[in-house]
Amino acid sequence: MLKPEKMKDGVRHVYDVSSLSSLQRCPRYFHYKEELGALGELTLSRRPNYATTFGHAYHEAIAIYNHALAQHYSQSVALNRAIYYLLSTYKYLTAEVTRDTSRTIETLVRSLVWYDLFFSGNPFELAYINEQPALEFRFEVPISSKRLSGWCDALAYFNGQLYIIDRKTTTKEISETYISSYSPDNQVQGYVFALRAMGLPVAGICIEVAIVLVNSTRFRRLFFDYVEDDGRLDEWKSDALNSMDQADMYTRDQYWPMNRTACTMYGRTCEYNYLCSQLPMVRPTLLKEATVYANKP
Ligand code: SF4
Repeated sequence: MLKPEKMKDGVRHVYDVSSLSSLQRCPRYFHYKEELGALGELTLSRRPNYATTFGHAYHEAIAIYNHALAQHYSQSVALNRAIYYLLSTYKYLTAEVTRDTSRTIETLVRSLVWYDLFFSGNPFELAYINEQPALEFRFEVPISSKRLSGWCDALAYFNGQLYIIDRKTTTKEISETYISSYSPDNQVQGYVFALRAMGLPVAGICIEVAIVLVNSTRFRRLFFDYVEDDGRLDEWKSDALNSMDQADMYTRDQYWPMNRTACTMYGRTCEYNYLCSQLPMVRPTLLKEATVYANKP
């Protein structure tokens, strides 16, 4: 369920880019996922989403590695700490469990070791904010009468320019379609908007992608620059506020319309398809079960 601190005057007050994207995709999806916290296919199949688990594990390991480096430990100590964490926390991620030979504890550890090898010759210069290393950097800024919150993986300098770093993992080669999926994009534009609202002179965002294949991991840094006053961030802000205004109306009316054109977006069936395909009178019972399961302590 939505936490009370994210509400004000009976409507949602704090958004992150994930909830904003859900809202713009389908109001009903937003309501199920972001407001009720109902699990979709997970509840129905009781099967965790190991792609998400793998991505979290990779993020955590790189964060441990970079924090150790920021504390002036050697690369080998930083690497050992991160590997120890992975092996002690995620050793259950075998191919039998994930049913995906690209996402296993072996490919995780290999990706970390190769990250160290690949980027040691091409490191970024970590930024410091208030004398603290800008790692897992949290922000919350006003956007008109609402607030926008989130986490950046890091802030760093490339060629003297400040960039937000966001890490992604993929098990496919990077295509033009993949690259263009970040422009326009809520996360890219929302993060640049937020950091500039904090007075930080970010030039743009660097998507640092780990391409995790069965027998190798490769890395690419994709840069998306935003020139001040080119109009794109103003446009993003107007669109975001328009969506938030609509969400206030849905909440007051207790009615979240279905966007049926989004049910198979990105070539994947929405995780709430089972729920939405049931008779309206049946859904409340199913939803109650899904919500109770999702919010179990
Ligand atoms: S199945 Fe379709 S209508 Fe239902 S929540 Fe998903 S996108 Fe929206």
